[in-house]
Amino acid sequence: MSEMKKLLEVEHLRKYFPIKSGFFKKEYVQAVEDVSFFIYEGETLGIVGESGCGKTTLGRSILRLVEPSSGRVIYDGETIFDGEKKSQPAMLPYRTNMQIVFQDPSASLDPRMTVGEIVGEALMVHRPDLKGKAYRERINELLETVGLNSEHANRFPHEFSGGQQQRIGIARALAVEPEFIVCDEPISALDVSIQSQVVNMLEDLQAEKHLTYLFIAHDISVVRHVSNRIGVMYLGQMVEMAESYELCSRPMHPYTQSLLSAVPLPDPDKTRAKKRTILEGDVPSPLHPPTGCRFHTRCPRATEKCAQYAPEWKEYAPGHFAACHCLDEGN
Ligand code: SF4
Repeated sequence: MSEMKKLLEVEHLRKYFPIKSGFFKKEYVQAVEDVSFFIYEGETLGIVGESGCGKTTLGRSILRLVEPSSGRVIYDGETIFDGEKKSQPAMLPYRTNMQIVFQDPSASLDPRMTVGEIVGEALMVHRPDLKGKAYRERINELLETVGLNSEHANRFPHEFSGGQQQRIGIARALAVEPEFIVCDEPISALDVSIQSQVVNMLEDLQAEKHLTYLFIAHDISVVRHVSNRIGVMYLGQMVEMAESYELCSRPMHPYTQSLLSAVPLPDPDKTRAKKRTILEGDVPSPLHPPTGCRFHTRCPRATEKCAQYAPEWKEYAPGHFAACHCLDEGN
């Protein structure tokens, strides 16, 4: 992996959402706090964490669907955000290269547009040279790529099942021939029976078109299946990152250990015998995150130091990063 090209680099990214509280005081929801990582060209980086941990905001901040508050985003060697912000027209070439597949396909497709119009909308902006027959042929080609056909182009989104709607969402993302796709919980809203079909299709498309994915999900068993590497987020921060097998077989951070302890094993007897780490309490509010290590209010290994000092993000084994005081102390 070390000689592979880094397609995307994210440095110290923050996204704070201001909210009003009283006449003079402004408070901020710290949705993403000082997150740094990179993605190799052609790989899938999975991001996992409980809902509200900031993973969706992270994906959208990278694409600048929400403006980051600070930090740096570098795409293919070009800085596309560094606090100064590139103007939206200057972002246009990157909008072609970087696309998103949304979680809820029914909500992300305009019910008043036909499938052909939905898939063709991005084509009109990015490929104005395609007209008439060539335009229609490209739409049909895209629908076929995701397992639909040309007859579907004249129908409306409500006429399709959830799995088919997500295929339409993927066809829309592919319309501009992107290199990089943020897959934001792409199967969470789908029936379990069709989740694997959509995952398999995404994997086939990746191999065929050499795509790079940021795959966001709350279920580590799904992320483990699709990702080359995995990043684990808790309350807006990255707490651990490593290659998938390494992270799942040798989790270092107590939060990752608790996530993995909840994954059922194929053998029910082994699942019953497995020691489960159940976290106490709810995820704290990102409006007033805990001091020190943000996980200390729920961590079974927390010490006094954890409440006072934030742990550093360090590489503890080749390519295996984590932020936890107990790793420094060899506990
Ligand atoms: Fe737990 Fe402390 Fe490590 Fe945070 S730094 S994960 S509270 S042991």
